[in-house]
Amino acid sequence: MNLAYDPLYLFIGGHWLQAGNRDTAPVTNPADGSVLARVPLATKADLDLALTTAESVAASWRNTFPDERAAILRRAGALIRERAPRIARMLTLEEGKPLNEALDEVNRAGEYFEWFAEEARRIDGRVVPANRPGVQQLVKRQAIGTVAAFTPWNFPAITPARKLSAALAAGCPVIIKPGEEAPATALALARALDDAGLPKGVLQVVFGVPDMVSAHLIASPIVRKVTFTGSVPVGRLLSARAAEGVKPITLELGGHGPVLVFKDADIEAAAVGGVANRFRGTGQVCISSTRFLIQREVYDAFTEQFITATRKLKVGDGLEEGTQVGPLANTRQLEKMEQLVADAVEHGARILTGGKRVPGPGFFFEPTVLADVPMEARVMQEEPFGPIAILRPFDTLKDGLEEANRLPYGLSAYAFTRDARTAIDVGDGLEAGMIGINQYRIIATELPFGGMKESGHGSEGGAEGISYYLTNKFISQA
Ligand code: NAD
Repeated sequence: MNLAYDPLYLFIGGHWLQAGNRDTAPVTNPADGSVLARVPLATKADLDLALTTAESVAASWRNTFPDERAAILRRAGALIRERAPRIARMLTLEEGKPLNEALDEVNRAGEYFEWFAEEARRIDGRVVPANRPGVQQLVKRQAIGTVAAFTPWNFPAITPARKLSAALAAGCPVIIKPGEEAPATALALARALDDAGLPKGVLQVVFGVPDMVSAHLIASPIVRKVTFTGSVPVGRLLSARAAEGVKPITLELGGHGPVLVFKDADIEAAAVGGVANRFRGTGQVCISSTRFLIQREVYDAFTEQFITATRKLKVGDGLEEGTQVGPLANTRQLEKMEQLVADAVEHGARILTGGKRVPGPGFFFEPTVLADVPMEARVMQEEPFGPIAILRPFDTLKDGLEEANRLPYGLSAYAFTRDARTAIDVGDGLEAGMIGINQYRIIATELPFGGMKESGHGSEGGAEGISYYLTNKFISQA
């Protein structure tokens, strides 16, 4: 037993349930392949209990005073920050990212609870003047009802935090199924909410066979809202399931982030910042920059700086001091990187650096830079979701925008230019939900997070985030 890693439970009906007779799945440390613990998998009876519990508390939670919900969320945020060093260590153990990135993620997860604590107090409505005498017309916004939330393994703190904080602030009970590959971090958030005084049954955490869990929960009439972060194919499947029950769904799916680097740009900022952005989280980041599209005049200068910075990256166990790139989360990801590189090379691509698995235990892959990748290569179509960067020249703004917008994804996009006109044109022309110009930092608690096209719809965070858990109700009173 790893003492730095908490025991794993299901959290149903206010009880922390051990595996008992249930099936379990191993949780692996991607830095060395060892098994950290086994996660209990919910049965249909567990899910039914979660559903009926949620139903039993829905009205009372919806009717709590905003100040009460705000106080609980604020306390939970504070507890998460207080416990961040320990939670971050578990996050690194189960997901692999460097400890400093994990710590930043956990603190930002705490921040979401603080942000939505305040948003709970700002749920307002409208009084609309009537066209008849003596009639009062009210537009109210009310909690939509029980939420089924599904989150992946790559950001096991911040993705559950974005969903839980907004839904709970709105007054919705939540049944969440975090990724089975990184379960302890999400449970630590649930523990903080429980300790902060969240009424029993308002939040329930289940793990299980993902397809069974989502089919069962989404089909239940108790669930009134679905939210999912993960891949496009699974998003499409859950969307169809939600449509069966005419339920709204928020989808945060994949991306293939383009970066347009114009000849008048600060090349060093674009290249060195681009390396940090591309290889953060070992590239397993949906808003990551993947395709670097560089105006031909500065292609060589950019490439040289990009490769130099990539070669300096320290790959290793996320718990080791100085590690900048951790392992991939699982062997599926590792195999996918090998396949994508082999396929690109077969089509004629050149490997400028990296390109191989790192020998030894753990799921490590070298930070890889590819050039001259033909359009037919898989990596030009599919989200690599790993440490592979693609460099490609372009000539005109029109060509650059065309390539940036070529794919069905529309999550993040970036551009570097010192020209104000170009900045306006790319800001308007890029088909992406989140755009960084002359910088790679595009996430903040106060900003909406979400995509367009097949990257999904709906926003999380910001002033927009809470609205996806509220429904409009119009009351006309004579
Ligand atoms: P996946 O689509 O199989 O799983 C992603 C998440 O969805 C996991 O947490 C999984 O448990 C869950 N899931 C899978 N099938 C489900 C179902 N039927 N019902 C409910 N939940 C389900 O992806 P993966 O193998 O973990 O990763 C493969 C690819 O997915 C990655 O290469 C990447 O492109 C994408 N991905 C994107 C994000 C993101 O943040 N947008 C996160 C993880 C994975």
